[in-house]
Formats: sequence, C-alpha cells, structure tokens
Amino acid sequence: MYKIVHDKDEMTIRFDKDLVDGETLSRFLSHINLQSMLKKTAATDATGRVRARNRLAGLPTGIDLLRDPTLNKGSAFTLEEREALGLTGLLPPRVHTIKEQSQRVLENLRKRSTDIERYGTLIALQDRNKTLFYRVLLDNIEELMPIVYTPTVGQACLEFGHIFRRPRGIYITARDQGRVAELLGNWPFNDIRVIVITDGERILGLGDLGADGMGIPVGKLALYSVCAGIHPSLSLPVTLDMGTDNVRLLNDPLYIGLQHPRLRGQVYDEMIEEFVLAVQQVFPGAMIQFEDFANRNAFRLLQRYRDQVCCFNDDIQGTASVTVAGMLSALRITGGNLKEQRFLFLGAGEAGLGTGNLMVAALVEEGLSVEEACQCCWYFDSKGLVVKERTDLTGHKLLYAHDHPPVGDFLAAIEALRPQAIIGVSGQPKRFTPEILATMARINERPIVFSLSNPTSKAECTAEEAYTWTEGRAIFASGSPFDPVTTHGKKLFPAQGNNVYIFPGVGMGVMASGAVRVTDEMFLTAARIVASEVTDDDLQLGRVYPALPRIREVSLAVAVAVAEVAYANGLAGKPKPDDLVEHIRSLMFEPDYQPYI
Ligand code: NAD
Repeated sequence: MYKIVHDKDEMTIRFDKDLVDGETLSRFLSHINLQSMLKKTAATDATGRVRARNRLAGLPTGIDLLRDPTLNKGSAFTLEEREALGLTGLLPPRVHTIKEQSQRVLENLRKRSTDIERYGTLIALQDRNKTLFYRVLLDNIEELMPIVYTPTVGQACLEFGHIFRRPRGIYITARDQGRVAELLGNWPFNDIRVIVITDGERILGLGDLGADGMGIPVGKLALYSVCAGIHPSLSLPVTLDMGTDNVRLLNDPLYIGLQHPRLRGQVYDEMIEEFVLAVQQVFPGAMIQFEDFANRNAFRLLQRYRDQVCCFNDDIQGTASVTVAGMLSALRITGGNLKEQRFLFLGAGEAGLGTGNLMVAALVEEGLSVEEACQCCWYFDSKGLVVKERTDLTGHKLLYAHDHPPVGDFLAAIEALRPQAIIGVSGQPKRFTPEILATMARINERPIVFSLSNPTSKAECTAEEAYTWTEGRAIFASGSPFDPVTTHGKKLFPAQGNNVYIFPGVGMGVMASGAVRVTDEMFLTAARIVASEVTDDDLQLGRVYPALPRIREVSLAVAVAVAEVAYANGLAGKPKPDDLVEHIRSLMFEPDYQPYI
C-alpha cells in the first residue's frame, strides 16, 4: 500500500492513492510526524523543544491539546504522553482507561432527570473528547440512540436557540449568495465524504424549525460514525437558512436563524444549485444527503440532482429502504408472498410515496409489471383515499390513484381494501385508533402495523396500543423507539424502523467504492440485506429489524452490498479491492485512543 524511503532526515512515503483515502493518510502522517518528533527529542528532556516541534508540525500540545476534541484523551493520557506533550500538572494524577471514562460518562448521564439534559451532556462530551463520545455511543447504542436521535433530538431542535452553546457545521444563509464555496472552504477539514444538509422546513414530524433544525444533520452524521464507522472528520453538517415561516421562532429573541419568512422560488433554487456546485468544487466526490426538506422541495430536488451528482434524500429513499426491509421480515412471520400483499399507507408524502416506489421496484424484481406492482400500494392522505376520481392529485400520487370509489374515512378504507399491512407516515398522532387496530386483527391473523411518524408524540399508535387492540397478534414497528410490552402472556420487543439500518451503510459503501451516484438499486439491495440480517430469534421476540447492538455488522453488510452494486453498474470511482469486506472493515473508524508515543 505504501513504500517508505529513508535518507538521513528525509523520509519519502509513496502511497497508492487509489487504496488510501485522505483521512487514513492524514491520520497516518500525523502519527508518523508525532512519533518521529518525539523520537528525535527523546534524548533531551526539553519539553519546550517538543512543544516547539509540535507547533511547527501544526499539532497542539499542552492546554491546546486538551481543548482539541479530536485529539484530546482527557485523563487517559499516559504519564509519558503527559511529559512529552506538556500536559503534566494540567490533569489529575490518576490515569484512567477509556472504559473507566465511559463509566463516568454513563453515571453522569443516568443521574440526569430528563432526556434533554442527557442530550446536552452528550453534546458537551462531543465538544470535549470525540473519541470518548463515540465510544460511549457505540457501546450503549440502545440506551443512547433515543437521546442523540429521535425522539430527543426533536425536543432539542424545538429548544435549539435556548440550549445553543457551540456552533457545529456550516450555516449557509440567503445572505451568502455568490460565496457558498468560500463558506464551505472555512470548514477546518478538507477531505469531506458525507454532507447532510437540511433547510429545516420539515424537521421530523415537527414542521418548520428553520435554522434550529441543525440538530438533525449533526445527529445523523454522528450516526454515520457510530453505525458504519465513517470517521467524524469526513462528515459535514450543513443548514441552509432561507428564513422560517414559524411565527413562534420569528418572535423568539433567542432564535438563531434569519428573522424573516422563507424565501422561495428562484432565489431558493439558485442557492441550492450554488451549494451543489460548490460541493463539487470544494469537496469533490462528497455524497450529499438531503434531509428534512418539505415535501414541496424534497421530490423536486432529488429529481433534479440524483442523476447529476452523488446524492440521495433519506426521508424518501432511506425510509423506503428501511420500511421495505421491515415488510420483508414481517412476511417471514405471516408466510405471505410479497406479490399478494396490499399495503395501505396513511400519509402520501415523502416517506409514504418513497416506500411505495421502492416496493414497486421490489415487486417488479419478483416478476410483476409496474402497473400490477402499483396495485399493491394504496394511499390515504389528508383528503381521503387516493383514487382516480380525485382531481387534486399530482406527482407520484397519480401512480397510485386506483379505480375505486372515493372513501373519506380510514376505517372504511380498511374495510373496503382489507390490507395485510397499514403504514402510518402521516405525522398525525393517534390515527390508528383501537377500532382500526381491532379491524386489522379481525381481517388478518397477523396484522402488520407500522406506526412510523416521529417523534413519539406524533406516532399513529404506540406499541402497547398496537398489541393490546390486536390481542398481541400485531407485527409492529415504529419510527421512534418503544419499550418492550408484556401482553397476552408474552413479552414483545417492538422494532424501530430506524433509517440508521440503511443510510450509514449506504454512505460507507459509496465512500469505499468511490461511487459517483446513489441509486434506487442500492436502497433495494440494502433493504434485502437488512431483512436477511434479522434472525429467527428476533422474529420470535416480535422484532422485524436486527438488534441495534449488531448495527456495525449490519452496516458492514449493507456497505459491501452497496459497493458491489456500484462496481456492477460501472458507478465506482475506485478500483475494486481483492477483499471488499476486509477493505471496508479496515475503513471503519474505531473509537479508541491512538498512542501518541
Ligand atoms: P410529508 O409532509 O411529506 O407527508 C405527510 C403526509 O401525511 C402528506 O401526504 C399528508 O397529506 C398526509 N397527512 C396529513 N394529515 C393527514 C391526515 N389527517 N390523514 C391522512 N394523511 C394525512 O412527511 P413525510 O416526510 O412523509 O413524513 C411523515 C412522517 O413520517 C413524519 O412524522 C416523519 O417523522 C415520519 N418518518 C419516519 C421515518 C422512520 O421512522 N424511519 C422516516 C421518515 C419519516
């Protein structure tokens, strides 16, 4: 992979640039730099000289090192490192292991009385010591996922201006037209592989939160690192602030964004275009994830850019993939055949239509025509059942406007269509009423009920409601997590249809293969892989997704499959390594301290 040529003080290292990514290279070089500097000065006891040399190499020492969250190890610096790096006296004397530090963090987290306080504690840790932050998250993913992501991140976004301490990511505003590349250039790292951008208009199911939506890209990128091992320095959260139509925020003196209504139309499109082009210029090859854009822009932007640059929309494609994965697992319980299912969606937005479109792709792979496949997916939106007779339908909804008399009531739609599965993606709480659930249980031996709206307060029904009103027979999945439920003599573990099963692995597969596009085939492949990772034991427990602690394994499998799709379709920008699995595994960031000596 590399060749080292030594000549007195000169050292040349030749890398095969196709096999070594920029991050690995720069970490390796920093390490070599530090090692050789420390060796050179080992004969002298002049800490000052080490410091001077480190400064020359651009590496911090002393208090600056403790304040660098990427390099800081806190009390885990060894005594030798403390001596060499000017830290002696700046830390309490006892050296702790990362395990002991994690224990301290967990103890503190568990003492907090609210989840939003836990969120604040974790974010403060991310600011101090990134390695420890990721270690704690990875080792306690089930406990902490609801804190760094839905539902707590939703609460954090609602209160963002009030709990704001340190900026994270890049804020691009309507004021910055013409200089977006300059702003991206201000980011301290120049090798960026994944960008998550939101304009804050549809944050989870909470609506327009403007610039306060930044919690979402930050949270999603933390999950890329935790779940798929994409090194944190390779990712960049971005908020595009075009204003907000949220009156509460416009009147809030602590709101952090621009205080005017949203700018739309041409100026909005020009800003997006400038951003996409600036990414190609400043961070060529970076994958762009569009996140929490309102329906009116989400499909349009995806359509505009999906064949031009490396990008995807997680609310449409990631959700589709994870929902299809859950359905494939559910069919292992019901014994049903995908082609014979009727899916009834409550909500026909990004999540619902995205899922329908991917389901159609899955059904076409099973031999149906597109028209036949569309007949399996039915939608009920805010105006009733989506049927041909309606004159208000546009876009993807038209594909699913079937020949059927109009129905204005969801329960009546269930009675009429007798679906095997209902999927809640409406952002409207409590829409799966006891009557609806009982009806599903009357029609189906094992009714499939996915209540995907986030955060928890928006769920169409809770796990307990789903199990109670179906006599414990529901195959249930939700968008936000629910605790296990004991019902009808059985303890059931409701699955969370969390997009983290998909997007981190997709991102890693794209990064590893250097894929230039993100395709629907990749998302369908990812869905099949996630479903195949669900064990019979998971299904026994009522879980249609793999257990979260296995997320690294699952993401690795997804990444490998996605990279294979890129290679098979001529979309890969890097040569295929002999052992793809090992290659991707070697790229995965492990949150462990590197020895500095
Ligand atoms: P969206 O705004 O694009 O779509 C919402 C849809 O709900 C629209 O079609 C709207 O007409 C419909 N709707 C509104 N009120 C309704 C009502 N009373 N009855 C029936 N339909 C109604 O939003 P989206 O991106 O599709 O997201 C919807 C929800 O799904 C959100 O709460 C979001 O958090 C959740 N979601 C969950 C996951 C996941 O769990 N993996 C992923 C993505 C989105």
